[in-house]
Amino acid sequence: MNNPVLTIVVPCYNEEEVLPETIKQLSQLLEELENENLASDKSKILFVDDGSKDRTWPIIYKQSLNNDKVRGIKLSRNVGHQNALLAGLSAAGKAADCAVSIDADLQDDISVIREFMLKFREGYEIVYGVRRKRDTDTFFKRSTAQGFYKMMKKMGVDLVYNHADFRLMSKRALEELQRYEETNMFLRGIVPLLGFKTASVYYDRKERLAGESKYPLKKMIAFCFEGITSFSVTPIRMVMALGICSFFISLLFGIYFLGLRFFGETETGWTSLITSIWMLGGLQLTAIGLVGEYIGKIYKETKRRPKFSVEIDAFNMPISPHLASD
Ligand code: UDP
Ligand code: MG
Repeated sequence: MNNPVLTIVVPCYNEEEVLPETIKQLSQLLEELENENLASDKSKILFVDDGSKDRTWPIIYKQSLNNDKVRGIKLSRNVGHQNALLAGLSAAGKAADCAVSIDADLQDDISVIREFMLKFREGYEIVYGVRRKRDTDTFFKRSTAQGFYKMMKKMGVDLVYNHADFRLMSKRALEELQRYEETNMFLRGIVPLLGFKTASVYYDRKERLAGESKYPLKKMIAFCFEGITSFSVTPIRMVMALGICSFFISLLFGIYFLGLRFFGETETGWTSLITSIWMLGGLQLTAIGLVGEYIGKIYKETKRRPKFSVEIDAFNMPISPHLASD
């Protein structure tokens, strides 16, 4: 078998600080892989600029002119990590035998890509990079992430524990991924659904090389919510169960108050009235909110909007220097 063509897909959002170093290290790694006969010399690094507001795109583009290993795609606006990744993976799926996705900040150990390629050689179609320990993440990030994995598991979503979006996928797996047409693509949940022969490689996660995390708390919560509601109907079932419970509790209350009415002191009724109004009001609002959430999802899915638009495709097109605008 010839050496497999590899495309390393790197989504970038305002990564000007770290990008030059990332380009250097990844190009070096690719060269090593080629020398070790693990990857073909047609392998590339594909940077996806997710509508950055800084100099990310000019850096990528200028590099692609000087460095044959570097290619870039510029999305027309910021569509978020998952969609940017998807844009890169769909481009990579057409050109390569396998694609590795990795963040631009070099938090993930790039030398693990060598092990990915060895596994790919052995016939594995999907290889997950799994973090062994997360000492370098803040306590807050660690515990919220931990809670997220546990909660998803409870809701019946099959996630690979401590695996983010650092993984290898074969051409076949990438093609299968294209068939998932939903708008809310939560890759960590969808990739395990693809099946195929899979393996995991363990590594230690490092600190961000430069720049700030593009996942502030607000985005983390949104990501978590997205993950749950695109994959599971458990929350809505929980609300139903809660509703049934509260119905039976109110029945018991009713019997109790009736008992008091006939055999004991009569209550003025105010306390029970006000509590039940609040309780039911709260329950109804939660239920309506949740139903609304799912209806909103259906609404979005029925629109079948494109998940991203490519503004400049310097991956498949011949490169012309005039496109390297600042
Ligand atoms: N990213 C992106 N679009 C966004 C936010 C982030 O393409 O809207 C990229 C970002 O440049 C990085 C990766 O997604 O390569 C992961 O982001 P980050 O490192 O900030 O997340 P963290 O590691 O803090 O979870
Ligand atoms: Mg990071």
